[in-house]
Amino acid sequence: PADKLIGHDKNVWMEFTALARDYKAVNLGQGFPDLLPAHFVSEALGRVAASKNFAVNQYTRSQGHPRLVSVLGKLYTILMKREIDPLSEILITGGAYESLFCAFQSFLNPGDEVIIIEPFFDCYVPQISFAGGVPKFVPIRAKENATSTKDWVLDKEELESAFNENTRAIIFNTPHNPTGKVFSLEELQLIADLCIKYNVLCISDEVYEWLVYDGAEHIRIATLPGMWERTVTIGSAGKTFSVTGWKLGWSIAPKELIKNIQTVQAQVTYTLATPTQEALAEAFEHELPLLGTEKSYFKELGSMLQQKRDLMAKLLREVGFKPTIPEGGYFMMADTSDIDVNFDEYDKSDDPQDYKFVRWLTKEKGIAAIPPSAFYSSQHKHHGSKYIRFCFIKEDSTLQKGAKKLKEWK
Ligand code: PMP
Ligand code: GLN
Repeated sequence: PADKLIGHDKNVWMEFTALARDYKAVNLGQGFPDLLPAHFVSEALGRVAASKNFAVNQYTRSQGHPRLVSVLGKLYTILMKREIDPLSEILITGGAYESLFCAFQSFLNPGDEVIIIEPFFDCYVPQISFAGGVPKFVPIRAKENATSTKDWVLDKEELESAFNENTRAIIFNTPHNPTGKVFSLEELQLIADLCIKYNVLCISDEVYEWLVYDGAEHIRIATLPGMWERTVTIGSAGKTFSVTGWKLGWSIAPKELIKNIQTVQAQVTYTLATPTQEALAEAFEHELPLLGTEKSYFKELGSMLQQKRDLMAKLLREVGFKPTIPEGGYFMMADTSDIDVNFDEYDKSDDPQDYKFVRWLTKEKGIAAIPPSAFYSSQHKHHGSKYIRFCFIKEDSTLQKGAKKLKEWK
């Protein structure tokens, strides 16, 4: 292999999704819904499949299917509070993954530093390294006895000290995976001020943009003064309409930034699947007039997930976990400190405690989860290793099945 691949041959998904499958565990690990998509979403795909228009099965425009970018342009014109040009300010990619990959490839020169707020979605580090960039980590830290992600905070001095003349970009994610933190206006303003002061590009991973609870507000950093021109905002159809297998995502940014990302994308996938883009366009067309009303799918999804979040927190507490209540997203960090299991007997590897806990939980108790130290740099893994991450976008029956197994174990 090329030198740049060294150390990146394993990832948390490969081990733990296989483990969940092999042990037929109740899967509260990898983030995917076990619910059917909304009717209007499945029906749109069905209509595309039955279409007599040959073109929906053939290559479409490289930068994004015209019908899809058109509706996204209308939607993000509202969300970004500025006119978004569908043809030059939006790029459709193979999930958010490809937007991230192409952004790093298109903006980083070897040695450029990228600030990563951690914990972070794990692919950022290998993707930055493949592009020759150097990751610099700034943690969000949990206050003592934190019970909500409101108590997981970014320290101003610590963040500022990571910026210097070699800093090319910062990447962060809100609503956040794995904690569920929703960045506050103050925190976003802090990031924005530093990006402007040091002339740094901001890559904002907002794949969970519709999933916020208890009245929390998702604020798009691109809408803060002076930020549109330096921000790439990334979204995902998988998270937006609960169809992770569709693997469509997008980057939204000014023309001058999009054209660079597109230079890379045009040589990677060139164009994405037309049928799913056509169906996704229909789904957004259905949703657009309902935006902000009681009939909005995004609103229904939010209230459904808030109930699932509360159910999961209750079930976890009953068996001795200390969950941190997320303000957004569909994951929950649960502190395992009060649970007495001797893993060292069970798992003799040098892996962090949470890896051992999840292997034990999956193999012995039949419940799959994800070890959050996978979302930390090697020097900060200890910040994550007393937690495990559970996913709650699951049928209530799946959550109850998980709870039954947890209770049997107690
Ligand atoms: N960013 C974050 C924070 C995620 O949790 C995910 C989950 N898959 C992605 C990006 C990638 O999204 P996609 O499936 O659209 O590639
Ligand atoms: N984003 C999802 C998660 O965090 C899935 C990621 C993946 O499977 N690579 O669980």
